[in-house]
Amino acid sequence: MKKTSIEVKVGDLIIGGNNPVVIQSMTNTDTCDTTATVAQIQRLVQQGCQLVRLTAADIEQAENLYNIKNELQRLGCNVPLVADIHFSPKAALISASVADKIRINPGNYVDRKWKPSFTESDYEDILNKAKENLLPLVDTCRKHNTAIRIGVNHGSLSERILFKYGNTPKAMAESAMEYLRLFNQMDFHNIVVSLKASQVRTMYQANKLLVDMMQKEDMYYPLHLGVTEAGDELQGRIKSICGIAPLLMQHIGSTIRVSLTEEPENEIPVAKSIASVCTDCPDKEVLYIAEKAYGLLENKISTLDKTNPSDKDILQALDIERYKAEFIACPSCGRTKYNIQEALSQVKQACSHLKSLKIAVMGCIVNGPGEMADADYGYIGAGDDTVNLYRGKTPVYTHVKQEDAVNKLIEIIKADGKWQEA
Ligand code: SF4
Repeated sequence: MKKTSIEVKVGDLIIGGNNPVVIQSMTNTDTCDTTATVAQIQRLVQQGCQLVRLTAADIEQAENLYNIKNELQRLGCNVPLVADIHFSPKAALISASVADKIRINPGNYVDRKWKPSFTESDYEDILNKAKENLLPLVDTCRKHNTAIRIGVNHGSLSERILFKYGNTPKAMAESAMEYLRLFNQMDFHNIVVSLKASQVRTMYQANKLLVDMMQKEDMYYPLHLGVTEAGDELQGRIKSICGIAPLLMQHIGSTIRVSLTEEPENEIPVAKSIASVCTDCPDKEVLYIAEKAYGLLENKISTLDKTNPSDKDILQALDIERYKAEFIACPSCGRTKYNIQEALSQVKQACSHLKSLKIAVMGCIVNGPGEMADADYGYIGAGDDTVNLYRGKTPVYTHVKQEDAVNKLIEIIKADGKWQEA
């Protein structure tokens, strides 16, 4: 950003300004399970995680944040906590009094009414209603010095925003700007913003657009960067580098999260190496990938040397060429009730050779179907060790046992005539 972002205080941590990039992650334990959650947070902090997010999907989970915070403090761990709110304004209010930051998604917070079309007066009414609903939250945040992240996700934009701007990077930036203007009207500025997508190019363009839009309205909020549902192993890492590092190199972004479908602790070394691109001692491998991705994203180069395996991975990560099937997989969180890491590995083993396909493996049916973007098939956790299988956005089988699910998925792909033997 031409002018440095403002500083936002989250617990003892400062995000933005000229401070180093803050590394964060998210737990995938049940937030009601204090022992498991505290142990995972400690492991994250040992790796160098500076800010930890937890799901606060309902009142019970929000209330248990007190126990988690108390136990961490008893153990001498003061890492700031972020509560991730989904649909419950009540859980948001409780969380805002204990967490150091709360994350709300404008797409599913107070804003979910479906209509076939929207008039200008509908927009005005909805925004007025949103402001009315946000006022008690802002009062609680002010009282407790709690920061707010406006966290827009490409896969969960509101119907209203989609109607006006389509499913585009601009829609993501506009979704954040609407809420930023509401918070400005309430004179609340303790805000961080994120625009995440599973497609690297969409995430990159949305963040660049948002910076321009904020500057035009004299706003300089720090940005949290991440490629969501990036998957695991090399693919997840390369996608994250390609999306996050070129923005950091342009001084866009003050805090980052690498989302991997692995144990959250694995995210921290990757995030640290990505953050190194804006220091004097960059990780050379990451810098190589970041510079190539920057060139492709800014149309300064049109292709890469395809004899080089890492260049092929960059082209796949930017959806320029496909060398294997594309997998979208969420990192899982407190909503996940099955072994998603094992599931992703099984699905990849069975389907990696189907290079024309995009397959999503998601942790829960609450957000999974919306956030699996334009995947051809979806494998989504439905409950305790069961899975729903989707063709596009349509469920084909529900509550399939995890042990049978890969074969059922193959059955659907075969029925569509898209299966090939490896
Ligand atoms: S899709 Fe994955 S990360 Fe998102 S809420 Fe569901 S389980 Fe959590």
